[in-house]
Amino acid sequence: MNIHEYQAKMLLAREGVTIPQGEVASTPEQAKAIAEKLAGNGHKRFVLKSQIHAGGRGKGTFKNGWQGGVRIVSSPAEVFDSAAKMLGQILVTRQTGPEGRLVSKLLIDGAPEIRKELYLSILLDRASSRPLVMASTEGGMDIEEVAAKTPDKISKEWIDPALGMMPFQARKLASALELKPELINPAVKLLTGIYNTWWKCDASLVEINPLCIVGAPNGKEELMAVDAKVALDDNALYRHKELAEMRDLNEEAPLETEASKFNLNYIKLDGNIACLVNGAGLAMATMDVIQHYGGTPANFLDVGGGASQEQVAAAFRIILADRNVRAILVNIFGGIMQCDIIAAGIVAAIQETQLKLPLVVRLEGNNVELGKKILANSGMPIISAGSMADAAEKVVKAIRV
Ligand code: GDP
Ligand code: MN
Repeated sequence: MNIHEYQAKMLLAREGVTIPQGEVASTPEQAKAIAEKLAGNGHKRFVLKSQIHAGGRGKGTFKNGWQGGVRIVSSPAEVFDSAAKMLGQILVTRQTGPEGRLVSKLLIDGAPEIRKELYLSILLDRASSRPLVMASTEGGMDIEEVAAKTPDKISKEWIDPALGMMPFQARKLASALELKPELINPAVKLLTGIYNTWWKCDASLVEINPLCIVGAPNGKEELMAVDAKVALDDNALYRHKELAEMRDLNEEAPLETEASKFNLNYIKLDGNIACLVNGAGLAMATMDVIQHYGGTPANFLDVGGGASQEQVAAAFRIILADRNVRAILVNIFGGIMQCDIIAAGIVAAIQETQLKLPLVVRLEGNNVELGKKILANSGMPIISAGSMADAAEKVVKAIRV
């Protein structure tokens, strides 16, 4: 689950990470009021930041032609004007796809005076089963590009989860960031705070890009998390009620949200052959076989090992809500579940949804003969398949005729 920048910054601030002063607004009036408050605290420049679950906002474009999902202005009146142009509009960035995302909230921050942009992230390195901290002097830009062109500019430090981030590791990272001596201790505090945020929230990713060296009011320099991205591990959300409440359903695909209510793993794709499969690995293999026979999958759908009749019915409804779908391939291995129970579920789901599209079913495993009999005796035009290859061939053929 992803959360917004303003929420991520709040979590970081709790762990002592310095963030810009600011608040979130949903109307131009609110945005202006926040800017006035910031001005009262001595801020002279203000940044309006579109709150969407996608990066690349700085270089993004609104569909109304307005440039930039991140905008810096110099007065509360300008904050009002810019907010009016951004709120309720669709922002397109390199991460949103051409359809873009609706901006319904803006983070209004006092804009610090940025001297240098750095990069910092913490993620789980599955290869070593440890948290990995990555730091680079090349912040603010596309980190994938830095990784591809100048990988030596990214320093990596693996953390022992039983010990947490050790001060020597934080100092090593700080020196890789080429910080001045007076910023080393603040960097240790900041890095520890970012690591603690990652750890305590069961985050899968915390990314600060840019992490900035900014001019402080006292004439000195300080470190500040100017942007923040936090992704949380869905499997750990049950023990973070407060974080789970940060979920913004408007940022998620509606069918995927509906699927998650039934504990179904659904991801919409661009093709026209819907798949309903039990097991993630089998679901991926099924998509591959469809492609192999010249078809394109409309979705990934794993109904889980022990899918109930209710879940199968929900799965059919979700599949059919995608208007691109022209045929369905059901590929079930009866392991935990018996094939006859699955077959009964499929028949009930077809009746409930009054299915008109070609449906190919491949069953294998426990009670497979009984399952096939139920499908055959149902009186419905179900195309039965033997092997996976046979099923894929048949479903691709079904949409050609
Ligand atoms: P992203 O494009 O979605 O990653 O959004 P960011 O928050 O990273 O903003 C993009 C760029 O805008 C940053 O790299 C900065 O150069 C600039 N920017 C963002 N916030 C501020 C700010 O408060 N002050 C200044 N001067 N620049 C900012
Ligand atoms: Mn950024």
